[in-house]
Amino acid sequence: MSDYVIPEPEPKEIDETKSIELRHLADNAVLKGMPAGEEQCENCRYYLENTAEISYCWHPKLRILVGAQWWCQWWEGIPEGGAS
Ligand code: SF4
Repeated sequence: MSDYVIPEPEPKEIDETKSIELRHLADNAVLKGMPAGEEQCENCRYYLENTAEISYCWHPKLRILVGAQWWCQWWEGIPEGGAS
């Protein structure tokens, strides 16, 4: 029998670095975790899979995962005839 105790998981330095980077991205985009009226990621041209609850945003200033109900200042409607 070993007395070894598995340590509790805790965030590492890289997690704090990524957290700060993503926070800056979100602040620059005025990213909100809720829709702005009718505008939300789900009906934005940059939301890659508009049937998914979480999807990749391919806006060149973001390129992160976002939620269908989120919104940011770079929202653009889906052009006639489909995405982009
Ligand atoms: S550009 Fe903004 S509104 Fe559009 S999918 Fe990305 S985060 Fe959402």
